[in-house]
Amino acid sequence: MQKNWTRGKQQKEMSLMTVNLLTSEICCPLCGKSKAKVLSEMDSFGFKVRYYLCQTCGFVFQNFRESAAADPAFYEETYRQLYQATEEPTAKDLRQQRLRAEYQLDLLQKHGVCRLWRALDIGASSGTLMQTIHEAYGAEMIGVEPGNAYRKLAEEKGFKLYPSLEQLRGSETGKFDLVTMMHVLEHLEDPLGTLNEIRTHLLEDRGFLLVEVPNFYAHDSYELAHLSCFTEHTLSEMLKQAGYKIMHMRKHGYPRSETLDLYLTVLARPENEPEENVAIIPERFVALKRSLSTLKRHLLTRIMPGKTWLPLEEKA
Ligand SMILES: [Zn+2]
Repeated sequence: MQKNWTRGKQQKEMSLMTVNLLTSEICCPLCGKSKAKVLSEMDSFGFKVRYYLCQTCGFVFQNFRESAAADPAFYEETYRQLYQATEEPTAKDLRQQRLRAEYQLDLLQKHGVCRLWRALDIGASSGTLMQTIHEAYGAEMIGVEPGNAYRKLAEEKGFKLYPSLEQLRGSETGKFDLVTMMHVLEHLEDPLGTLNEIRTHLLEDRGFLLVEVPNFYAHDSYELAHLSCFTEHTLSEMLKQAGYKIMHMRKHGYPRSETLDLYLTVLARPENEPEENVAIIPERFVALKRSLSTLKRHLLTRIMPGKTWLPLEEKA
């Protein structure tokens, strides 16, 4: 007992040392500055998850190496399971994907995407969005999906998929006139770098980028695999930093809520002549806005539960 306690204490001290060591090196994924304070701490899938608020630009993010430092092997396994969704997709999942795909197609069609020849879906899941876009535009569709079970489902629909962006870039040389990323950006270690990479290597000059992420001012957002938390402001600033011009930004709860704007969906295009070193406009009062939105979510959940959380399954 004593021995276990001592070992536990030593482990805790060691992980604290690691955390302290890493805290000094924390770098904001949006502005790159190392001036961040802890905003919130919680347990997620057995790990202490800590979110930082950048004191320079207001971006909220995890330094995921901290969680990994506590138990690297277990973290790797848990994170991979969460990120790659290795389990079989459920009927509930597939229904949500179908509703989302219809919504996203509507957004593309209403905001000037008239013709598409070749589109790429990063985080393609079961290929529902690929199929919806293919049916509407007749475009050639390629996907990236790390989860084996989901990738197989998308391949069964007749599409070409790669397990990673690196593998795609190793094999495909042509560019795309649409790149979609639904609930992917918040999982990436370097979201800004990936957006830059998409613009410079994958997207046609006159192409479109469609991105959806959880909205930090409505969605809980806190979860081991969510490395970044986006607001309307910080998502816009990150897209600008990566050389995109925003065509349309939609805050909405579809298909989960009628009262809460749980998601941010944005349609953007590469800037014709992206400027170097665009100044970031900092977001202010992030912690206060988060507290107020959490309060609103709790109130609406209590007052209007039926409209605030729509059923995940079809009504019988
Ligand atoms: Zn920052």
